[in-house]
Amino acid sequence: MKGTVVVTDFEFADLELEREILDGAGYKLVSAQASSPGELLEVCAHADGVINQYAQITAEVIKGLKSAKVISRYGIGVNTIDVDAATRAGIAVANVPDGSLHEVSEHAAAMILSLSRGLNELGNSVRSGRWDYTAAGRLFRLRGRTLGLIGFGHIPQTLVGKLSGFGLNVLAYDPYADPTVAEALGVRLVKLDELLAASAFVSVHVPLTAGTKHLIGARELGMMRSDGVLINTSRGPVVDEKALVVALKSGQIAGAGLDVFETEPMPADHPLCTLSNVVLSPHAAWYSEDSEAEIRRKTTENVVEILNGRECARLVNRV
Ligand code: NAD
Repeated sequence: MKGTVVVTDFEFADLELEREILDGAGYKLVSAQASSPGELLEVCAHADGVINQYAQITAEVIKGLKSAKVISRYGIGVNTIDVDAATRAGIAVANVPDGSLHEVSEHAAAMILSLSRGLNELGNSVRSGRWDYTAAGRLFRLRGRTLGLIGFGHIPQTLVGKLSGFGLNVLAYDPYADPTVAEALGVRLVKLDELLAASAFVSVHVPLTAGTKHLIGARELGMMRSDGVLINTSRGPVVDEKALVVALKSGQIAGAGLDVFETEPMPADHPLCTLSNVVLSPHAAWYSEDSEAEIRRKTTENVVEILNGRECARLVNRV
C-alpha cells in the first residue's frame, strides 16, 4: 500500500465506492466517525489524505496532521475546513463544486413552488378534515412576481434556467458576480436592500464565511415584503434563526423554506418546527442517488489525483 486515506465522518450506508477507488490506486481506506479535535487527530495524524463530510477540520486539527497532502470534502461548501490554515500547512483542499447543482437548485425551486401554492397548509387542512381552498390564505400566481437571489454562483444560475418558464423577474445580489453571465440569463444585479424590498421570494445561495454569518438578520428580514418568503438551501448560520422566528411569528414575512439550520440536526422541539408556513428538510437538498454517487466518486478521485501528483481540477486552494 502507498499510504492511508481517512474518512473522518460520513452519513452514507457504507464506503464501498471509496474503498474500491482507493484500493485500485494502492491506498488503504480507514473509516471513522470522528467529531472532536481529539478524535480527529487520533485517526488522521498520520494519514496521507483526509476525506471529510461535517466534522470540523479546524486550525488545531490541521496543525496535528503530520503527513496529509490533501483534504477533500464531500460536496460544495468547504466551511468545515479552515482553508487558510491548510494552505499555510501546505495541504491541498479540494471539493466537488458540480456534484449537486441540479439537486440543490431543484430543491430551492420545489420550496418556491410549494410555498407559492401553500402545499404545507393545504395538505395539513385536508388531513384534519377541513376541505377549504383558502386554508393556506391568499395565494398569488408566480408570473410577474420577483425572485431575489442572494449569491449568484453555480446553484442559483442553474435555478434560473430551470425556472425560466414561470415568468418570474429575477434579481441577484452578489458583489463578485460576472455581469455578462447575469445579463445572458436575464438577471438584474442589484444592491441587497433593493432585492429584499422588491422580492416575493428571497433565495439564499452564499457560502458560509466570516463575512456571510447572519447576512440575513433582523434588519434584512424587516426590509422584506410582508407577503415575502425566505428560502435557505445554503448554510444555516447565514440566516439569524432567532430573528427569522420572530419575523415569521409576527407576520413580518409570510413564510420560509429551510434546508439548513444553525444547529444540525435541528431538535424537533425547535420553534421553526411549530410553524405551518415553514417548509422544512434535513440538509437534504444535495441528495439524489445520482448526486451521492457522483460526489463520493469525485471526492475520492481528488485525493488520488493529488497523492499521485496529478493535476486536480477541483482544488479550492493553491499550495
Ligand atoms: P458558488 O461557489 O458557485 O457561488 C457562491 C457565490 O456566492 C459566488 O458567486 C460569490 O461571489 C457569492 N458570494 C460570496 N460572498 C457573498 C456575499 N457576502 N454576498 C453575496 N454574494 C456572495 O456556490 P454554489 O454552487 O452556488 O453553492 C452555494 C452554497 O450552497 C455553497 O457554498 C454551499 O454552502 C451550499 N450548498 C448546500 C447544499 C445543501 O445540501 N443544502 C448542497 C450544496 C451546496
